[in-house]
Amino acid sequence: MKYAKVKNFYNGRFVDSSAAWTDEVVSPIDGSQLSSVPMSTIDELNAAVASAKAAAAGWAATPIKERVQVFFKYRYLLEKNFDELTALVSEENGKTWDEAKAEVEKSIELTEFACSMPQLVAGEILEVSKGVECRTEHFPLGVVASIVPFNFPLMVPNWTMPNALVLGNTMIMKPSELVPLSCQRMAELLKDAGLPDGVFNIINGGKEIVEGICDHADIEAVSFVGSTKVAKLVYQRSTNALKRCVALGGAKNHLFVLPDANPSMTATNVTASMSGCAGQRCMAASAMLAVGNVDPIISSICDEAKKVVPGKNLGAVISPAAKKRIEDYITEAERAGAKILVDGRGATVEGKEGGTYVGPTVIDYVTPDMSVAKEEIFGPVISIMRTDTIDDALRIENANPYGNAASVFTQSGGAARYIMEHASAGMIGVNIGVPVPREPFSFGGWNDSRFGANDITGKSSIEFWTKLKKTTTKWNPEAGVNWMS
Ligand code: NAD
Repeated sequence: MKYAKVKNFYNGRFVDSSAAWTDEVVSPIDGSQLSSVPMSTIDELNAAVASAKAAAAGWAATPIKERVQVFFKYRYLLEKNFDELTALVSEENGKTWDEAKAEVEKSIELTEFACSMPQLVAGEILEVSKGVECRTEHFPLGVVASIVPFNFPLMVPNWTMPNALVLGNTMIMKPSELVPLSCQRMAELLKDAGLPDGVFNIINGGKEIVEGICDHADIEAVSFVGSTKVAKLVYQRSTNALKRCVALGGAKNHLFVLPDANPSMTATNVTASMSGCAGQRCMAASAMLAVGNVDPIISSICDEAKKVVPGKNLGAVISPAAKKRIEDYITEAERAGAKILVDGRGATVEGKEGGTYVGPTVIDYVTPDMSVAKEEIFGPVISIMRTDTIDDALRIENANPYGNAASVFTQSGGAARYIMEHASAGMIGVNIGVPVPREPFSFGGWNDSRFGANDITGKSSIEFWTKLKKTTTKWNPEAGVNWMS
Protein backbone atom coordinates (compact mmCIF):
# COMPACT_ATOMS: atom_id res chain seq x y z
CA MET A 1 0.00 0.00 0.00
CA LYS A 2 1.33 3.41 -0.94
CA TYR A 3 -0.32 5.14 2.06
CA ALA A 4 -0.86 4.06 5.67
CA LYS A 5 -4.32 2.99 6.77
CA VAL A 6 -6.72 5.96 6.90
CA LYS A 7 -7.41 7.29 10.41
CA ASN A 8 -10.28 9.12 11.97
CA PHE A 9 -9.65 12.66 13.20
CA TYR A 10 -11.07 14.15 16.37
CA ASN A 11 -9.90 16.20 19.36
CA GLY A 12 -7.29 17.54 16.94
CA ARG A 13 -5.60 14.13 16.62
CA PHE A 14 -5.53 11.33 14.07
CA VAL A 15 -6.88 8.20 15.74
CA ASP A 16 -6.61 4.58 14.63
CA SER A 17 -10.03 3.00 14.36
CA SER A 18 -10.74 -0.15 16.31
CA ALA A 19 -13.20 -1.27 13.61
CA ALA A 20 -13.03 -4.91 12.62
CA TRP A 21 -13.96 -4.01 9.05
CA THR A 22 -11.85 -2.11 6.54
CA ASP A 23 -12.37 -1.44 2.84
CA GLU A 24 -9.59 -1.20 0.29
CA VAL A 25 -8.88 2.22 -1.24
CA VAL A 26 -8.02 1.47 -4.85
CA SER A 27 -6.72 3.81 -7.55
CA PRO A 28 -9.01 3.56 -10.59
CA ILE A 29 -6.05 4.63 -12.74
CA ASP A 30 -4.33 1.25 -12.50
CA GLY A 31 -6.21 -0.81 -9.91
CA SER A 32 -3.42 -0.60 -7.33
CA GLN A 33 -4.31 -0.53 -3.64
CA LEU A 34 -3.49 2.87 -2.17
CA SER A 35 -4.66 2.39 1.39
CA SER A 36 -7.42 0.90 3.51
CA VAL A 37 -10.25 2.72 5.25
CA PRO A 38 -11.98 1.71 8.48
CA MET A 39 -15.71 1.18 8.71
CA SER A 40 -15.76 2.97 12.04
CA THR A 41 -18.03 2.05 14.92
CA ILE A 42 -20.85 4.07 16.48
CA ASP A 43 -18.69 4.48 19.60
CA GLU A 44 -16.09 6.20 17.42
CA LEU A 45 -18.77 8.43 15.90
CA ASN A 46 -19.86 9.33 19.42
CA ALA A 47 -16.26 10.24 20.32
CA ALA A 48 -15.99 12.47 17.24
CA VAL A 49 -19.29 14.19 18.04
CA ALA A 50 -18.17 14.68 21.66
CA SER A 51 -15.00 16.34 20.36
CA ALA A 52 -17.05 18.68 18.11
CA LYS A 53 -19.47 19.42 20.94
CA ALA A 54 -16.70 20.27 23.40
CA ALA A 55 -15.20 22.73 20.90
CA ALA A 56 -18.51 24.32 19.86
CA ALA A 57 -18.96 27.02 22.53
CA GLY A 58 -15.39 28.33 22.32
CA TRP A 59 -15.40 28.45 18.53
CA ALA A 60 -18.81 30.12 18.38
CA ALA A 61 -17.58 32.75 20.86
CA THR A 62 -14.50 33.49 18.72
CA PRO A 63 -15.20 36.63 16.65
CA ILE A 64 -15.71 35.90 12.97
CA LYS A 65 -12.80 38.21 12.11
CA GLU A 66 -10.55 35.80 14.06
CA ARG A 67 -12.19 32.60 12.75
CA VAL A 68 -11.60 33.74 9.23
CA GLN A 69 -7.84 34.14 9.82
CA VAL A 70 -7.52 30.34 9.98
CA PHE A 71 -9.03 30.15 6.53
CA PHE A 72 -6.66 32.73 5.04
CA LYS A 73 -3.87 30.41 6.25
CA TYR A 74 -5.70 27.30 5.02
CA ARG A 75 -6.09 28.92 1.59
CA TYR A 76 -2.34 29.62 1.56
CA LEU A 77 -1.63 25.98 2.48
CA LEU A 78 -3.90 24.70 -0.32
CA GLU A 79 -1.83 26.77 -2.72
CA LYS A 80 1.48 25.75 -1.15
CA ASN A 81 0.58 22.06 -1.46
CA PHE A 82 -1.13 22.45 -4.81
CA ASP A 83 0.73 19.76 -6.77
CA GLU A 84 0.62 17.22 -3.96
CA LEU A 85 -3.15 17.70 -3.55
CA THR A 86 -3.64 17.49 -7.32
CA ALA A 87 -1.75 14.18 -7.39
CA LEU A 88 -3.76 12.78 -4.48
CA VAL A 89 -7.14 13.71 -6.01
CA SER A 90 -6.12 12.22 -9.34
CA GLU A 91 -4.74 9.06 -7.76
CA GLU A 92 -7.71 8.21 -5.58
CA ASN A 93 -10.47 9.37 -7.92
CA GLY A 94 -8.99 8.57 -11.34
CA LYS A 95 -9.25 12.11 -12.77
CA THR A 96 -6.73 13.50 -15.22
CA TRP A 97 -4.08 15.85 -13.85
CA ASP A 98 -5.84 18.89 -15.35
CA GLU A 99 -9.20 17.89 -13.86
CA ALA A 100 -7.65 17.30 -10.45
CA LYS A 101 -5.88 20.65 -10.71
CA ALA A 102 -9.22 22.34 -11.43
CA GLU A 103 -10.63 20.67 -8.33
CA VAL A 104 -7.87 22.12 -6.13
CA GLU A 105 -8.35 25.53 -7.78
CA LYS A 106 -12.06 25.37 -7.05
CA SER A 107 -11.34 24.43 -3.42
CA ILE A 108 -9.21 27.58 -3.15
CA GLU A 109 -12.00 29.65 -4.67
CA LEU A 110 -14.52 28.21 -2.19
CA THR A 111 -12.20 29.08 0.68
CA GLU A 112 -11.88 32.64 -0.65
CA PHE A 113 -15.65 32.95 -0.52
CA ALA A 114 -15.63 31.77 3.10
CA CYS A 115 -12.95 34.37 3.84
CA SER A 116 -15.35 37.06 2.59
CA MET A 117 -18.04 35.94 5.05
CA PRO A 118 -17.50 38.81 7.53
CA GLN A 119 -18.55 41.17 4.73
CA LEU A 120 -21.69 39.14 4.05
CA VAL A 121 -23.17 38.24 7.42
CA ALA A 122 -23.57 41.59 9.10
CA GLY A 123 -27.06 41.72 10.57
CA GLU A 124 -29.72 44.36 10.03
CA ILE A 125 -31.04 47.08 12.30
CA LEU A 126 -34.06 49.34 11.94
CA GLU A 127 -36.00 51.73 14.14
CA VAL A 128 -39.38 50.00 13.82
CA SER A 129 -41.32 52.34 16.12
CA LYS A 130 -40.37 55.59 17.87
CA GLY A 131 -37.33 54.74 20.04
CA VAL A 132 -37.68 50.99 19.36
CA GLU A 133 -35.13 49.05 17.34
CA CYS A 134 -35.14 45.57 15.85
CA ARG A 135 -31.88 43.87 14.93
CA THR A 136 -31.01 40.51 13.44
CA GLU A 137 -27.85 38.45 13.91
CA HIS A 138 -26.73 35.11 12.46
CA PHE A 139 -25.85 32.53 15.14
CA PRO A 140 -24.08 29.21 14.51
CA LEU A 141 -26.09 26.01 14.91
CA GLY A 142 -23.50 24.04 16.93
CA VAL A 143 -22.31 20.64 15.70
CA VAL A 144 -23.10 20.04 12.03
CA ALA A 145 -22.29 17.18 9.66
CA SER A 146 -21.24 16.87 6.04
CA ILE A 147 -21.55 13.58 4.16
CA VAL A 148 -19.81 13.59 0.79
CA PRO A 149 -19.56 11.47 -2.40
CA PHE A 150 -16.62 10.01 -4.34
CA ASN A 151 -16.60 12.21 -7.42
CA PHE A 152 -14.96 15.34 -5.95
CA PRO A 153 -12.82 14.11 -3.02
CA LEU A 154 -11.56 17.63 -2.20
CA MET A 155 -13.99 20.11 -3.76
CA VAL A 156 -17.27 18.84 -2.28
CA PRO A 157 -15.85 18.79 1.29
CA ASN A 158 -14.82 22.39 0.57
CA TRP A 159 -18.38 23.24 -0.50
CA THR A 160 -19.44 22.80 3.11
CA MET A 161 -16.50 22.90 5.54
CA PRO A 162 -15.13 26.46 5.10
CA ASN A 163 -18.54 28.19 5.16
CA ALA A 164 -19.91 26.14 8.06
CA LEU A 165 -16.79 26.69 10.17
CA VAL A 166 -16.29 30.38 9.41
CA LEU A 167 -19.92 30.85 10.45
CA GLY A 168 -19.02 29.41 13.86
CA ASN A 169 -20.12 25.76 13.68
CA THR A 170 -18.04 22.69 14.44
CA MET A 171 -18.21 19.81 12.00
CA ILE A 172 -18.21 16.05 11.55
CA MET A 173 -17.14 15.13 8.00
CA LYS A 174 -17.93 11.69 6.58
CA PRO A 175 -15.81 11.16 3.44
CA SER A 176 -16.66 8.67 0.73
CA GLU A 177 -15.05 5.37 1.66
CA LEU A 178 -13.85 5.17 -1.98
CA VAL A 179 -11.74 8.36 -1.73
CA PRO A 180 -10.92 9.18 1.92
CA LEU A 181 -7.32 10.38 1.41
CA SER A 182 -7.90 13.98 0.22
CA CYS A 183 -10.16 14.65 3.22
CA GLN A 184 -7.52 13.34 5.59
CA ARG A 185 -4.96 15.71 4.04
CA MET A 186 -7.48 18.53 4.39
CA ALA A 187 -7.60 17.89 8.16
CA GLU A 188 -3.79 18.08 8.34
CA LEU A 189 -3.81 21.42 6.53
CA LEU A 190 -6.54 22.80 8.81
CA LYS A 191 -4.51 21.78 11.85
CA ASP A 192 -1.41 23.45 10.37
CA ALA A 193 -3.52 26.55 9.70
CA GLY A 194 -4.21 26.76 13.44
CA LEU A 195 -7.80 25.49 13.63
CA PRO A 196 -8.56 24.74 17.30
CA ASP A 197 -8.88 21.06 18.24
CA GLY A 198 -12.36 19.60 17.82
CA VAL A 199 -13.67 22.23 15.40
CA PHE A 200 -13.22 19.88 12.44
CA ASN A 201 -13.51 16.11 12.77
CA ILE A 202 -13.55 13.17 10.38
CA ILE A 203 -15.25 9.86 10.85
CA ASN A 204 -14.75 7.24 8.16
CA GLY A 205 -17.28 4.56 7.35
CA GLY A 206 -20.33 3.72 5.31
CA LYS A 207 -24.08 3.26 5.77
CA GLU A 208 -23.97 2.62 9.53
CA ILE A 209 -22.06 5.83 10.23
CA VAL A 210 -24.33 7.87 7.94
CA GLU A 211 -27.39 6.55 9.77
CA GLY A 212 -25.67 7.25 13.09
CA ILE A 213 -25.10 10.87 12.00
CA CYS A 214 -28.76 11.28 10.98
CA ASP A 215 -29.90 9.94 14.38
CA HIS A 216 -27.35 11.63 16.65
CA ALA A 217 -28.96 13.87 19.25
CA ASP A 218 -25.99 16.27 19.38
CA ILE A 219 -25.84 16.98 15.64
CA GLU A 220 -27.98 19.97 14.63
CA ALA A 221 -27.77 19.89 10.84
CA VAL A 222 -26.81 17.43 8.12
CA SER A 223 -25.65 18.26 4.62
CA PHE A 224 -25.44 15.41 2.16
CA VAL A 225 -24.17 15.13 -1.42
CA GLY A 226 -24.52 11.84 -3.31
CA SER A 227 -27.04 9.72 -5.19
CA THR A 228 -30.77 10.47 -5.06
CA LYS A 229 -31.52 7.12 -3.46
CA VAL A 230 -29.30 7.88 -0.45
CA ALA A 231 -30.18 11.63 -0.45
CA LYS A 232 -33.83 10.70 0.13
CA LEU A 233 -32.94 8.32 2.97
CA VAL A 234 -30.67 10.87 4.64
CA TYR A 235 -33.22 13.69 4.26
CA GLN A 236 -36.04 11.57 5.66
CA ARG A 237 -34.00 10.15 8.51
CA SER A 238 -32.37 13.36 9.67
CA THR A 239 -35.52 15.50 9.43
CA ASN A 240 -37.37 12.73 11.26
CA ALA A 241 -34.80 13.28 14.02
CA LEU A 242 -35.81 17.00 13.85
CA LYS A 243 -32.58 18.26 12.26
CA ARG A 244 -32.30 20.65 9.38
CA CYS A 245 -31.01 18.93 6.27
CA VAL A 246 -30.02 19.74 2.74
CA ALA A 247 -29.46 16.62 0.62
CA LEU A 248 -28.20 16.94 -2.93
CA GLY A 249 -28.90 13.97 -5.17
CA GLY A 250 -28.14 12.66 -8.64
CA ALA A 251 -28.80 14.24 -11.99
CA LYS A 252 -29.81 13.77 -15.59
CA ASN A 253 -28.83 17.00 -17.29
CA HIS A 254 -30.37 17.90 -20.65
CA LEU A 255 -28.69 20.00 -23.31
CA PHE A 256 -31.04 21.57 -25.86
CA VAL A 257 -29.25 22.01 -29.19
CA LEU A 258 -31.00 24.21 -31.75
CA PRO A 259 -30.15 24.38 -35.47
CA ASP A 260 -28.84 27.95 -35.21
CA ALA A 261 -26.28 27.03 -32.50
CA ASN A 262 -22.66 27.95 -33.17
CA PRO A 263 -21.46 24.56 -34.48
CA SER A 264 -17.88 24.39 -33.26
CA MET A 265 -18.56 25.98 -29.87
CA THR A 266 -21.52 23.65 -29.34
CA ALA A 267 -19.59 20.54 -30.35
CA THR A 268 -16.62 21.29 -28.09
CA ASN A 269 -18.81 22.31 -25.14
CA VAL A 270 -21.16 19.33 -25.38
CA THR A 271 -18.24 16.92 -25.65
CA ALA A 272 -16.35 18.51 -22.76
CA SER A 273 -19.48 18.47 -20.61
CA MET A 274 -20.30 14.81 -21.21
CA SER A 275 -16.74 13.46 -21.01
CA GLY A 276 -15.08 15.74 -18.41
CA CYS A 277 -14.24 13.89 -15.18
CA ALA A 278 -15.23 10.76 -17.16
CA GLY A 279 -18.85 11.89 -16.97
CA GLN A 280 -18.79 11.49 -13.19
CA ARG A 281 -20.11 14.98 -12.48
CA CYS A 282 -23.57 15.84 -11.29
CA MET A 283 -23.40 18.71 -13.82
CA ALA A 284 -22.35 16.54 -16.78
CA ALA A 285 -24.36 16.62 -20.01
CA SER A 286 -26.15 13.29 -20.12
CA ALA A 287 -29.03 13.75 -22.58
CA MET A 288 -28.99 15.92 -25.68
CA LEU A 289 -32.26 17.16 -27.14
CA ALA A 290 -31.61 17.75 -30.83
CA VAL A 291 -34.35 20.13 -31.94
CA GLY A 292 -34.85 20.00 -35.74
CA ASN A 293 -31.97 19.20 -38.03
CA VAL A 294 -28.68 19.48 -36.16
CA ASP A 295 -26.91 16.67 -38.03
CA PRO A 296 -23.78 18.74 -38.79
CA ILE A 297 -23.41 19.50 -35.05
CA ILE A 298 -23.89 15.83 -34.13
CA SER A 299 -21.22 14.92 -36.64
CA SER A 300 -18.83 17.49 -35.08
CA ILE A 301 -19.62 16.12 -31.59
CA CYS A 302 -18.54 12.67 -32.82
CA ASP A 303 -15.30 14.17 -34.23
CA GLU A 304 -14.64 15.90 -30.91
CA ALA A 305 -15.45 12.76 -28.92
CA LYS A 306 -12.87 10.79 -30.91
CA LYS A 307 -10.20 13.25 -29.71
CA VAL A 308 -10.97 12.28 -26.10
CA VAL A 309 -8.66 9.38 -25.29
CA PRO A 310 -8.69 7.24 -22.12
CA GLY A 311 -5.49 7.58 -20.14
CA LYS A 312 -4.60 10.83 -21.95
CA ASN A 313 -7.31 13.47 -21.71
CA LEU A 314 -9.94 11.14 -20.22
CA GLY A 315 -9.63 9.74 -16.71
CA ALA A 316 -10.86 6.47 -15.26
CA VAL A 317 -14.29 5.70 -13.84
CA ILE A 318 -14.31 4.93 -10.14
CA SER A 319 -14.51 1.13 -10.06
CA PRO A 320 -14.97 -2.07 -12.07
CA ALA A 321 -18.64 -2.03 -10.99
CA ALA A 322 -19.08 1.50 -12.41
CA LYS A 323 -17.42 0.45 -15.69
CA LYS A 324 -19.76 -2.52 -15.98
CA ARG A 325 -22.83 -0.42 -15.15
CA ILE A 326 -21.97 2.19 -17.81
CA GLU A 327 -21.17 -0.42 -20.48
CA ASP A 328 -24.38 -2.30 -19.68
CA TYR A 329 -26.39 0.90 -20.28
CA ILE A 330 -24.77 1.29 -23.72
CA THR A 331 -25.46 -2.33 -24.63
CA GLU A 332 -29.06 -2.06 -23.47
CA ALA A 333 -29.60 1.05 -25.62
CA GLU A 334 -28.11 -0.69 -28.63
CA ARG A 335 -30.44 -3.67 -28.12
CA ALA A 336 -33.40 -1.31 -27.81
CA GLY A 337 -32.65 0.16 -31.25
CA ALA A 338 -30.45 3.19 -30.56
CA LYS A 339 -27.44 3.82 -32.77
CA ILE A 340 -23.99 3.92 -31.18
CA LEU A 341 -22.07 6.59 -33.12
CA VAL A 342 -18.98 6.54 -30.91
CA ASP A 343 -18.47 3.46 -28.75
CA GLY A 344 -16.41 3.64 -25.55
CA ARG A 345 -16.97 0.06 -24.42
CA GLY A 346 -13.97 -2.15 -23.75
CA ALA A 347 -11.51 0.74 -23.38
CA THR A 348 -8.10 -0.11 -21.94
CA VAL A 349 -4.93 1.87 -21.37
CA GLU A 350 -1.58 0.31 -22.14
CA GLY A 351 0.49 -0.24 -19.03
CA LYS A 352 -2.57 0.42 -16.83
CA GLU A 353 -4.51 -2.76 -17.53
CA GLY A 354 -5.89 -2.82 -13.96
CA GLY A 355 -7.50 0.61 -14.47
CA THR A 356 -11.21 1.10 -15.13
CA TYR A 357 -11.76 3.10 -18.31
CA VAL A 358 -14.76 3.79 -20.49
CA GLY A 359 -14.23 5.77 -23.69
CA PRO A 360 -16.48 8.65 -24.75
CA THR A 361 -19.75 7.34 -26.13
CA VAL A 362 -22.30 9.07 -28.36
CA ILE A 363 -25.67 7.34 -28.73
CA ASP A 364 -28.14 8.63 -31.33
CA TYR A 365 -31.82 7.91 -31.98
CA VAL A 366 -32.49 7.35 -28.29
CA THR A 367 -36.19 7.40 -27.41
CA PRO A 368 -37.55 8.82 -24.14
CA ASP A 369 -38.59 5.39 -22.86
CA MET A 370 -35.04 3.93 -22.94
CA SER A 371 -33.11 3.68 -19.69
CA VAL A 372 -30.22 5.76 -21.15
CA ALA A 373 -32.77 8.55 -21.68
CA LYS A 374 -34.25 8.39 -18.18
CA GLU A 375 -31.58 7.29 -15.72
CA GLU A 376 -28.33 8.74 -14.43
CA ILE A 377 -25.50 6.85 -16.15
CA PHE A 378 -22.60 8.70 -14.47
CA GLY A 379 -20.12 7.94 -17.23
CA PRO A 380 -18.83 9.64 -20.42
CA VAL A 381 -21.98 8.93 -22.39
CA ILE A 382 -24.41 11.24 -24.19
CA SER A 383 -27.84 10.05 -25.32
CA ILE A 384 -29.27 12.04 -28.22
CA MET A 385 -33.04 12.35 -28.55
CA ARG A 386 -34.45 14.04 -31.63
CA THR A 387 -37.50 16.30 -31.50
CA ASP A 388 -39.28 18.56 -33.98
CA THR A 389 -40.03 21.42 -31.61
CA ILE A 390 -38.67 23.13 -28.51
CA ASP A 391 -41.89 22.29 -26.68
CA ASP A 392 -41.45 18.56 -27.41
CA ALA A 393 -37.91 18.81 -26.06
CA LEU A 394 -39.13 20.63 -22.97
CA ARG A 395 -41.77 17.95 -22.37
CA ILE A 396 -38.99 15.31 -22.27
CA GLU A 397 -36.83 17.40 -19.94
CA ASN A 398 -39.74 18.31 -17.66
CA ALA A 399 -40.84 14.66 -17.36
CA ASN A 400 -37.47 13.58 -15.96
CA PRO A 401 -37.53 13.29 -12.16
CA TYR A 402 -34.12 14.95 -11.72
CA GLY A 403 -33.56 18.69 -12.11
CA ASN A 404 -29.97 19.63 -11.47
CA ALA A 405 -28.99 21.48 -14.65
CA ALA A 406 -30.10 22.16 -18.22
CA SER A 407 -28.41 24.10 -21.01
CA VAL A 408 -29.42 25.51 -24.35
CA PHE A 409 -27.16 26.07 -27.34
CA THR A 410 -28.53 28.67 -29.74
CA GLN A 411 -27.87 32.14 -31.13
CA SER A 412 -31.50 33.13 -30.60
CA GLY A 413 -32.14 35.17 -27.47
CA GLY A 414 -35.86 34.48 -27.63
CA ALA A 415 -35.46 30.70 -27.85
CA ALA A 416 -32.87 30.73 -25.05
CA ARG A 417 -35.14 32.84 -22.87
CA TYR A 418 -38.07 30.45 -23.44
CA ILE A 419 -36.00 27.42 -22.43
CA MET A 420 -34.49 29.25 -19.44
CA GLU A 421 -38.02 29.90 -18.23
CA HIS A 422 -39.54 26.48 -18.89
CA ALA A 423 -36.75 23.97 -18.14
CA SER A 424 -37.36 22.25 -14.80
CA ALA A 425 -33.85 22.52 -13.34
CA GLY A 426 -32.14 24.59 -10.68
CA MET A 427 -29.10 25.59 -12.74
CA ILE A 428 -29.48 26.73 -16.35
CA GLY A 429 -26.81 27.42 -18.97
CA VAL A 430 -26.98 29.34 -22.21
CA ASN A 431 -24.17 28.21 -24.52
CA ILE A 432 -22.46 26.72 -21.42
CA GLY A 433 -22.00 22.97 -21.04
CA VAL A 434 -21.44 22.90 -17.28
CA PRO A 435 -23.46 25.78 -15.79
CA VAL A 436 -22.01 25.74 -12.26
CA PRO A 437 -22.86 29.05 -10.55
CA ARG A 438 -19.71 30.55 -9.09
CA GLU A 439 -19.70 32.12 -5.64
CA PRO A 440 -21.38 34.23 -4.36
CA PHE A 441 -24.14 32.48 -6.37
CA SER A 442 -25.22 29.22 -4.88
CA PHE A 443 -25.20 25.61 -6.07
CA GLY A 444 -28.27 23.42 -5.91
CA GLY A 445 -30.75 21.67 -8.18
CA TRP A 446 -34.49 21.11 -8.15
CA ASN A 447 -36.80 18.09 -7.97
CA ASP A 448 -35.04 14.80 -7.14
CA SER A 449 -31.64 16.50 -7.39
CA ARG A 450 -32.07 18.34 -4.09
CA PHE A 451 -34.11 17.86 -0.93
CA GLY A 452 -34.37 20.71 1.57
CA ALA A 453 -34.90 24.44 1.30
CA ASN A 454 -31.39 25.83 0.80
CA ASP A 455 -28.59 25.51 -1.70
CA ILE A 456 -25.31 24.13 -0.42
CA THR A 457 -22.82 26.87 -1.38
CA GLY A 458 -22.73 30.62 -1.86
CA LYS A 459 -25.02 33.06 -0.10
CA SER A 460 -27.83 30.52 0.26
CA SER A 461 -25.59 28.39 2.50
CA ILE A 462 -25.50 31.18 5.09
CA GLU A 463 -29.17 30.55 5.85
CA PHE A 464 -28.51 26.83 6.12
CA TRP A 465 -25.51 27.04 8.47
CA THR A 466 -26.93 29.69 10.82
CA LYS A 467 -30.03 30.58 12.79
CA LEU A 468 -31.32 34.11 12.98
CA LYS A 469 -31.76 35.91 16.29
CA LYS A 470 -34.19 38.85 16.24
CA THR A 471 -33.80 41.34 19.12
CA THR A 472 -36.09 44.27 19.88
CA THR A 473 -34.80 47.04 22.20
CA LYS A 474 -36.13 50.20 23.81
CA TRP A 475 -34.01 52.22 26.22
CA ASN A 476 -35.89 55.48 26.60
CA PRO A 477 -39.22 55.80 28.49
CA GLU A 478 -40.12 58.77 26.28
CA ALA A 479 -40.53 56.26 23.45
CA GLY A 480 -43.98 55.92 24.92
CA VAL A 481 -46.43 53.08 25.25
CA ASN A 482 -47.75 51.37 22.18
CA TRP A 483 -48.64 47.86 21.03
CA MET A 484 -44.96 46.78 21.34
CA SER A 485 -44.77 47.68 25.04
P1 NAD B 1 -23.58 7.62 -2.88
O1 NAD B 1 -24.95 8.10 -2.64
O2 NAD B 1 -23.37 6.18 -3.17
O3 NAD B 1 -22.65 7.94 -1.61
C1 NAD B 1 -22.63 9.22 -1.02
C2 NAD B 1 -22.32 9.07 0.46
O4 NAD B 1 -23.36 8.30 1.08
C3 NAD B 1 -21.01 8.36 0.73
O5 NAD B 1 -20.33 9.01 1.78
C4 NAD B 1 -21.44 6.94 1.12
O6 NAD B 1 -20.59 6.36 2.06
C5 NAD B 1 -22.82 7.14 1.72
N1 NAD B 1 -23.74 6.02 1.44
C6 NAD B 1 -23.74 5.19 0.36
N2 NAD B 1 -24.77 4.31 0.44
C7 NAD B 1 -25.44 4.59 1.58
C8 NAD B 1 -26.60 4.05 2.21
N3 NAD B 1 -27.27 3.02 1.69
N4 NAD B 1 -27.01 4.59 3.38
C9 NAD B 1 -26.35 5.62 3.93
N5 NAD B 1 -25.23 6.17 3.38
C10 NAD B 1 -24.78 5.68 2.21
O7 NAD B 1 -22.96 8.55 -4.05
P2 NAD B 1 -21.57 8.38 -4.78
O8 NAD B 1 -21.62 7.18 -5.66
O9 NAD B 1 -20.45 8.51 -3.80
O10 NAD B 1 -21.56 9.71 -5.66
C11 NAD B 1 -22.15 9.80 -6.93
C12 NAD B 1 -23.54 10.39 -6.85
O11 NAD B 1 -23.47 11.68 -6.23
C13 NAD B 1 -24.15 10.64 -8.21
O12 NAD B 1 -25.50 10.28 -8.17
C14 NAD B 1 -23.99 12.14 -8.41
O13 NAD B 1 -24.92 12.74 -9.29
C15 NAD B 1 -24.17 12.63 -7.01
N6 NAD B 1 -23.62 13.94 -6.83
C16 NAD B 1 -24.50 14.98 -6.73
C17 NAD B 1 -24.02 16.26 -6.60
C18 NAD B 1 -24.98 17.41 -6.55
O14 NAD B 1 -24.54 18.52 -6.30
N7 NAD B 1 -26.27 17.22 -6.76
C19 NAD B 1 -22.64 16.51 -6.53
C20 NAD B 1 -21.78 15.41 -6.60
C21 NAD B 1 -22.29 14.13 -6.74
